[in-house]
Amino acid sequence: MIESKPKESTTEEVVAELRRRESFVFVSHVKPDGDTLGAGLALGLALRAMGKRVNYFQQDPVPRNLRFLPDADRVARELPADLPADALWVFCDMSDTSRAGEFLPALERRNILDIDHHLANSRFGAFNYVLETECSTGTCVLHLLRAMNAPITPEIATCLLTTIMTDTGGFMHSNTTGEVLQTSAELIALGANKEEITEKIFANKRFAAIRLLGAALDTARLEEDGKFCWTVVDEAMLAKFGADGEDTEEIIQHLRSVEGVDVAAVFKDYDGDVRVSLRGNGRVNVQTAAGRLGGGGHHRASGLTFVGPVPAAIEAVRAAIRAEGL
Ligand code: AMP
Ligand code: MN
Ligand code: MN
Repeated sequence: MIESKPKESTTEEVVAELRRRESFVFVSHVKPDGDTLGAGLALGLALRAMGKRVNYFQQDPVPRNLRFLPDADRVARELPADLPADALWVFCDMSDTSRAGEFLPALERRNILDIDHHLANSRFGAFNYVLETECSTGTCVLHLLRAMNAPITPEIATCLLTTIMTDTGGFMHSNTTGEVLQTSAELIALGANKEEITEKIFANKRFAAIRLLGAALDTARLEEDGKFCWTVVDEAMLAKFGADGEDTEEIIQHLRSVEGVDVAAVFKDYDGDVRVSLRGNGRVNVQTAAGRLGGGGHHRASGLTFVGPVPAAIEAVRAAIRAEGL
């Protein structure tokens, strides 16, 4: 059978489908961040206020710094046994269902809504609401809420501002347009707790994370005429400081901030495969670079999973960014 062309859905089509369904499951990606989680929580809160049934599926636990989000305690890997067969599964912030992890049950496409802002989203849903120019999946959700005339409570506003602050790096990245700042101001006026978001997400590091950061920076390498800065975090380093994967998040922004660096990479060698985070300054497209190795993301922020030893991962990434013009 020929698979029909993936369909882009209009705001009106998505709103009609949200109104039509009675039950929803929000799906966030593995290693969840404030965007995948905040976008789903925001839309879920609005649908619950409309009397709909809402569940959350997420393979990994909610990261420590996101547990303050309203309804975050409802997020789990387990789903209720009496979930209706016509529940709509809403995937937030991922280009493909594989990003939801291996515990995702088999789903029919007609029950999938894909809300995202990544480049190269595979349009895996029956409904695909992919707005590549949005700074976060949360702002895609905000368009839907406005079209539905859904009341934006302080809780919903906090979830949405979290998506923006996460994906703009606290209003630092190039996706921080005037419109984004305007939207953020509106969310604050609606009661979003900016102070709490800043405090919980950006100023709430464990001491272990700070010591790990020191070690990762100490062993960082600057190569390719100063244009490529990278480091490795392995099992032994985590063990030395009593740190875990959540404590590695901040490392890459320091490598990216070195003068003259076009691409920064962190090779995360724990939990099995090597996971690679890439950040660029816009000169080299790290999304297409990651795409060469089976990953994806955005022009200036991407990632991939490499099956093989770290030295091979480093060489593969070096070749991919050279091919993209480093
Ligand atoms: P991270 O470095 O993990 O914060 O990821 C940066 C960006 O790359 C995010 O937009 C992710 O969605 C994307 N990304 C990370 N890992 C992968 C992967 N294995 N496949 C596709 N996209 C990824
Ligand atoms: Mn994300
Ligand atoms: Mn995002």
